[in-house]
Amino acid sequence: RAKEMGGNCFSFYSQEMNERFENQLKMETALRRAVTNEELFLQYQPRICSHTQKIIGTEALLRWKHPEWGIVPPSRFISQLEESGLIIQVGTWVIREACRQNKLWQDMGLEPIRVSVNLSSRQFRSESLVNAVRSALADSGLEPCYLELELTESLLVDNTEHAISLMYALKELGIALSIDDFGTGYSSLSYLKRFPIDCLKIDRSFITEIASNTKDAAIVEAISTLAHNLGIGLVAEGVENINQAKLLKGYGCNEMQGYYYSRPVDANHLASVISQQNSLISPTKIA
Ligand code: C2E
Ligand code: MG
Ligand code: MG
Ligand code: MG
Repeated sequence: RAKEMGGNCFSFYSQEMNERFENQLKMETALRRAVTNEELFLQYQPRICSHTQKIIGTEALLRWKHPEWGIVPPSRFISQLEESGLIIQVGTWVIREACRQNKLWQDMGLEPIRVSVNLSSRQFRSESLVNAVRSALADSGLEPCYLELELTESLLVDNTEHAISLMYALKELGIALSIDDFGTGYSSLSYLKRFPIDCLKIDRSFITEIASNTKDAAIVEAISTLAHNLGIGLVAEGVENINQAKLLKGYGCNEMQGYYYSRPVDANHLASVISQQNSLISPTKIA
């Protein structure tokens, strides 16, 4: 490419870099405004028990409603939040809001469920995490057992010793910890021995073709056996049809999450579904 462009290649690249930089700056400015203008909000995707088909948990997922761009997906802004450092402020808000909302559901008289919150690596590395979680619990009045933090494998490999002591400090608060997107990162089985983990969330990439791809099926079955023998819970992510759900249940997966059960929905919507769930006979599409 550089050859093709001849003598112009330098200006071509610097122009491209300029544009990228400008876009980044525009995005960062927009995100700062989003925080002050309260354009960020949470949606909740249910986690369903394979045996009772009831909602026993929910994952809080961050959403951004920009006044002109509309809904911006997390894939477009989480990394910018990370790069700008805004993720600490926003991430703390997510934890607090999820706790507040979950306590509110309980105060409304709904059956208690556990809310899970995704952590970014910068949050995990920040000094303030344990205190942020502690005060989110104290200020909301949510019992710690109804909060779970989702960590990814990549977040745990950097400084393993530090990660382990941090995880124990979080566990001491009484909350649950899970490994998100399990199987896609730099997995090492020795982690499962050393980390105080309550639950593995099998990545969607193993679920999508579970019915036709015997390798995916074998991996899921093996992870399931492992989790059972270690006494760790297991959630399948991205369950989109009944066929996948049946196979997963057969492999011993005790919890499901995915579009087959529900897309992420607003807090009020989830509340109405939970309040009706005792009268549901079979899993129906929620959204
Ligand atoms: P994740 O934590 O693995 O969350 C699951 C993602 O899969 C969500 O995408 C969810 O909407 C989507 N999903 C759930 N069921 C299905 C399904 O059946 N089929 C398909 N195709 N997708 C499904 P979403 O909400 O776009 O979030 C993407 C990622 O952004 C999350 O992946 C998580 O890594 C990150 N994220 C979201 N909220 C937060 C947050 O508050 N903090 C941080 N640090 N990251 C977040
Ligand atoms: Mg997650
Ligand atoms: Mg996930
Ligand atoms: Mg994922």
